[in-house]
Amino acid sequence: MFLKPTYSVKGDISLLDIEQLYNDGIRGLIIDLDSTLMAPKSGNIDPVTEAWLVRARERFQMVVLTNNKREAYIENASLVLSMPVIGYAAKPWKAGFRKALDALQLPPAEVAVVGDRPLTDIWGGALSDMRTVLVRPLACIVEPSIKTFFRNLEHVFIKR
Ligand SMILES: [Mg+2]
Repeated sequence: MFLKPTYSVKGDISLLDIEQLYNDGIRGLIIDLDSTLMAPKSGNIDPVTEAWLVRARERFQMVVLTNNKREAYIENASLVLSMPVIGYAAKPWKAGFRKALDALQLPPAEVAVVGDRPLTDIWGGALSDMRTVLVRPLACIVEPSIKTFFRNLEHVFIKR
């Protein structure tokens, strides 16, 4: 089984081309939280990502979808990002994506799923008939090498 993201960004989310998605008919984004928008456990957003979000807001309805289950963490992220954050998503399964689509009030054809993980974000978006954007983890994160190893391993599922 191979996954092919609709778009593959050669960097983190701040390099995602907003106008290209908009011109391709995307009106809403379902965005992953950890490593895609915020450094895991950091509880805050870096200035580069913040600047991208400000521009993205002019084009898209946005909601965050995370497998995280910690209420306080989810609540803080929602405040910091000023957008709804849906937790307990159990990505790649459909229920969480359906909730996110309800929040956006958009058809799947007009929504793209953005995330750094092939087996949760990209597979999940594809299972729910949405376009997908694979981004690299935030450039500001320095992650332990063992985690990088497993993340790279996961990329064997991606068809280039
Ligand atoms: Mg992630």
